[in-house]
Amino acid sequence: MRVPPRLSGLIARILQLLFPSVCPSCNCATDSVSHAPICRKCWSGIRKYRGPSCRICATPFASEDAVVCSDCIRKPPLFSHASSFGIYEGVLAEAINLYKFHGARRLAKPLAAFLLDFDSAGIDAVVPVPLSLAGLRSRGFNQSLLLAKVFSDQKNVPLVLDGLLKCRETKPQIGLSAAERAKNLKGAFEAPKRLDGCRVLLVDDVMTTGSTANECAKQLLGSGASEVAVLTLARASSL
Ligand SMILES: [Zn+2]
Ligand SMILES: [Zn+2]
Repeated sequence: MRVPPRLSGLIARILQLLFPSVCPSCNCATDSVSHAPICRKCWSGIRKYRGPSCRICATPFASEDAVVCSDCIRKPPLFSHASSFGIYEGVLAEAINLYKFHGARRLAKPLAAFLLDFDSAGIDAVVPVPLSLAGLRSRGFNQSLLLAKVFSDQKNVPLVLDGLLKCRETKPQIGLSAAERAKNLKGAFEAPKRLDGCRVLLVDDVMTTGSTANECAKQLLGSGASEVAVLTLARASSL
């Protein structure tokens, strides 16, 4: 079928809008639809972090000898342990930023696929880290919820959408110290649903100091959860 030139130009422009043709990582033409605009070569270079890390909070270590980081020794977090697929750097960070800040919702599924290695045995409920109403309005979607939904569907573990609510907007955590982050988040979340005896998996996109995860765990434990584990796509050393 012959497409009129004006129409084909329109289709090309729409496709260009939907799937920008240049991979932001290598500047080559995009050859993927599912994880566009990142090309297949760059996407396949995303690697799981397999180096040494803290057994509790998963912060990466330079040394194989350390087991638990000094922060977890000084003040153990309220979550039992955290797992992250990778390190927040390179193509993985690029993909998360496109997904989270530039509306690339289609990346939810391929990014969530990185979480599926996590062993969900013993987990009773999956709870996403929530956004405030204002945050949800401005972003249009909750990036953690979409990841948690794919995980829940694929692993057949119930998703508890209202397990946590963010009841007020908080300042961006960027540039804040761990103590300032904790203060910024104090009282920002509530867990309105009883989760008595539930082992909860809290899902988020990126974990930095763990203060969000800790505050969420505090609320979930307060609502009766017997344990809260944390699963994120990436671990950031500082943001
Ligand atoms: Zn590329
Ligand atoms: Zn630690």
